[in-house]
Amino acid sequence: MKPRTPVRQRIGSLLLAGLAAGILPGFEPADMPESPPWPMVDQLLLPEIRADHPALSQTDILIDVGHGGVDGGTVYGDILEKNINLEIARRTYDALRGSGYTVLLNRVGDYALSSDNHWLNSRSRHLKDLAQRSHLAKEVSPKVMISLHVNSAKNSSKRGALLIHQKGKESRKLALCLQEALNPLYGTDTEPVYGRSYYLMKHVKAPSVIVEMGYLTNEEDRRLLLDAASQQKIAERIAAGVRTYLDVHAR
Ligand SMILES: [Zn+2]
Repeated sequence: MKPRTPVRQRIGSLLLAGLAAGILPGFEPADMPESPPWPMVDQLLLPEIRADHPALSQTDILIDVGHGGVDGGTVYGDILEKNINLEIARRTYDALRGSGYTVLLNRVGDYALSSDNHWLNSRSRHLKDLAQRSHLAKEVSPKVMISLHVNSAKNSSKRGALLIHQKGKESRKLALCLQEALNPLYGTDTEPVYGRSYYLMKHVKAPSVIVEMGYLTNEEDRRLLLDAASQQKIAERIAAGVRTYLDVHAR
């Protein structure tokens, strides 16, 4: 456990309260600065911050932005998954906030969550990163968590969004809502799959899904994932899927 930092804690509490009350502005993807002028969200969710903080207990959706910093995720030429995840996550954040939900992004810039993880004694940066992500979800206890990623395959004709769910029924339902919302955009009829081996899925209690938003190895998907207007469409479909789940299943 690292020593407490009261100043950051105070700033963190204020900012979280602002996020919950909707005082802070939403992200504007078009003019989003390289590094945000406010403290990063994951700095606000260190273990020092109490889990019963009102802002944390009111979170509807936690968006886990896959990879970051030295961990680029899937790579295709000079295209890095982590940047696509962040871009679409910001847009999803805006779309869901626009519908009146309380939403948290666990990464708003290009950095690894593991660099903030001082409490897990593991030499594996990747494991630290994953532990930090699942720890955040436990602290925040959102209604749902969606983890945004980009896929790759040896077969370059493989394409479309793929939802990966946990063992539970609720996670499966959430995956189906998102898969049905996304499939038409890619012209696919993919079925969600159960992901037994995913750390995050095993360690997060709230219904959680991994959203693989397309294949970097497929030309059509690549175009969708890199084009701003298509990124917006993907984000809106993800938001629509989450809304359907929360409206129908999570009352
Ligand atoms: Zn990934």
